[in-house]
Amino acid sequence: MNNPQKRLRFLITAGPTVEPIDPVRFLSNRSSGKMGFALANQAKKLGHEVILVAGPTQLKAPKNVNLISIQTALEMHDQVLKNFVHADIIIKAAAVCDFRPQNFQAQKIKKEGIAENWQLNLVRNPDILAKLGQLKQKQQLLVGFAAESEDIKQNATKKLAAKNLDWIVANDISQSQTGFQADENEAWLIGPNEELFLPRTSKENLAKQIVQFLAKQKGF
Ligand code: C5P
Repeated sequence: MNNPQKRLRFLITAGPTVEPIDPVRFLSNRSSGKMGFALANQAKKLGHEVILVAGPTQLKAPKNVNLISIQTALEMHDQVLKNFVHADIIIKAAAVCDFRPQNFQAQKIKKEGIAENWQLNLVRNPDILAKLGQLKQKQQLLVGFAAESEDIKQNATKKLAAKNLDWIVANDISQSQTGFQADENEAWLIGPNEELFLPRTSKENLAKQIVQFLAKQKGF
């Protein structure tokens, strides 16, 4: 180790967000949280400090990780911004819902009396990662995820620039054995001047390679 700091502080997000419509219904997505939890687990195992901000998942929190459980994108936004300043490496693996219902109905919506073509008004959630891209300090490494079903590298590279990221992990969600909910994954790790392919392996193993790669960038 040529870094005087003994360990790095990772801030990692994982899982879906859940956007309530009424007390029993919500909008969400298929994210299992496996990749983000694997990243948190591996960063901790490699001796680093980890804060994991996660939406609802079936997973057990990795040992000795500071888990902050959230439901909505707005809650994730607040927790991430609160913990961002002290982080050396921020990895946003969460699948944040881009939209939320404009109004939360406190009582269960009754289907009687609702038109056949009922429309739900949605409003855009803040792009947390893009906001961090504007706020980040020189010494911080900001890493996004891009789940793509076509033109993976091109789309990820656009996001890297648009959100002012240091690295983006791009993966193909159109394949059933990798990506969302699967136990395995393969990905491109893309930076402004460099890219490398991480071939198909378990999410834990892929997470270890990503964490080791990023820690090395910080002199670890
Ligand atoms: O634009 P897209 O949703 O594909 O970008 C994916 C990346 O942006 C992920 O790292 C995700 O966690 C982050 N993101 C975010 N806030 C949003 C939407 C996406 O932080 N509202």
